Amino acid sequence: MTYKISVQRCFSYEQEEVREALIKMLEPLGGMESYVKKGAKVLVKPNMLSRKDPSRAATTHPSIIAEVVKLCYAAGASHVKVGDSPPEIFGLAEDFWKITGFKKACEDSGAELIEFEKDEKVPVTFRTGGKEVTAYVVKSLFEADCVINLPKMKTHNLTRITGATKNLFGLIPGFAKGMWHKAIPRAEQFAEFIADYARELPITLSIMDAIEAMDSQGPASGRVVRPGLLYGGAPVTAVDYAFCKIAGLNPAKVHMLDYTAKIGFGPSSMDDIEFVGIPIEEAVMEEYKVPMASPMHLIPEWVLNIAKKLLWTGPVLKEGKCVKCGRCKKICPVHAIEITQADGALFDREKCISCFCCMEVCPAEAIEAQPSPAVTVFVKLVKRLLRYK
Ligand code: SF4
Ligand code: SF4
Repeated sequence: MTYKISVQRCFSYEQEEVREALIKMLEPLGGMESYVKKGAKVLVKPNMLSRKDPSRAATTHPSIIAEVVKLCYAAGASHVKVGDSPPEIFGLAEDFWKITGFKKACEDSGAELIEFEKDEKVPVTFRTGGKEVTAYVVKSLFEADCVINLPKMKTHNLTRITGATKNLFGLIPGFAKGMWHKAIPRAEQFAEFIADYARELPITLSIMDAIEAMDSQGPASGRVVRPGLLYGGAPVTAVDYAFCKIAGLNPAKVHMLDYTAKIGFGPSSMDDIEFVGIPIEEAVMEEYKVPMASPMHLIPEWVLNIAKKLLWTGPVLKEGKCVKCGRCKKICPVHAIEITQADGALFDREKCISCFCCMEVCPAEAIEAQPSPAVTVFVKLVKRLLRYK
C-alpha cells in the first residue's frame, strides 16, 4: 500500500504565510474539505509539552494551530476543540496556554481550548508486549468526527524522535503517562507500547510543524533548527517516515517505526511513501542531530539485568543551571529525585527508570541525558560486532 505525504516550504510563522503553505500542502491531499465534512466536530491535538515561548521550538507554534482551526471552520466544521496534556499541567493550564500562545491562537480562530484533565476518560484496550492493557484517553477524542494531530518535529532521548505517533501519548491525561513509563521502563518496549496504542486511535490527519524544529537533546531543551517545512498526511507512522527522510535518518533504526513496519501499521519501507508537493530531495536537511540508536534491544533481558548497574543512560545536571524549583521531583514517577539546597536536583540511579520526564518539565533546561561510561564503550563494541549503525 502507498501512503501519500505532502511536503511544503514555509520559512515564517507569519499567519498569512502559514495559511498559504497549509493550503498548498493540503491541496494534493484533497484540501481540508476532504478531512472535515460540513457540520463536523473537530479535535485538534498540538504538542504543548512545556511552558516555553514558541521560539524555543518545544511546542507546536500557535500560528499553525490558529490557521488549521480557521481552515477547519472554512471547510464547514461546526465546532473545533484544541487540547493537550503535558506532564505537569495540573493547576497550571492558564500559564501553559498563555506562554505557549495557545490561548491567543484559540481566541483568534474561534476554537474551544480544553483542559484534558477535566475531560471524561474512556478506556482503550489493546495488546502490547504480549498482554492486554487498557489506557484511558480523553472522551473528546471519540466524540470528534475528525481528529487533526499537530506534532512538532523534535528528537527524544527515549524514542529518538517525537513526531506524529508519539504526540498521541498526550491524549492520556495527567499523571497516568508517568505510570506507563514506570510500568514499561525499557525504551524499546515503551516504543512498542506507543505504536500499539496509536494504532487504536481514530486520527484523521497529521500535520508536522517543521518550520522550526528541535534536534539533539529534545524534546524540551535541544537545539532549534530551521527545516522550513510543513508536511502531513496519514497515518501517523507515514508522517514519521517523512520525518526520517527529511532528517536523513533510517526508520529501521527508530525502534517504534521498525516495529510498526513489522506489525503492518502504516509503511514498511520508504518505498511505501509517495511524496507530493515540493521534491522531497529539496526537503532533506544537511544535518539533524538525533540521539544515538541503541542496540540494547538486541541484548537479552537477563544480560541487561545483570549489567544494569553499569549500563544506563540517565539524567544529569548541567553545572550551575538548576534553580531548585522542584518540578522534576514532583513529576518523577518513581520518586528518584531529591532537591538539596547545596546542589539542586540529585538523581537516585538505583530508582531511576530513565523516562526523562524530569528533563521535559525542567524550566531551566538544567537536565541532560548522559550515558554511563560503560554504556558508551559497550554500545561502540556491540555496534562494531553486530555492524549496527
Ligand atoms: S529521575 Fe527523571 S528520568 Fe529518572 S525516573 Fe525520575 S523522571 Fe524519569
Ligand atoms: S533540575 Fe530543573 S526542574 Fe529540577 S529542581 Fe532544578 S531547575 Fe527545577
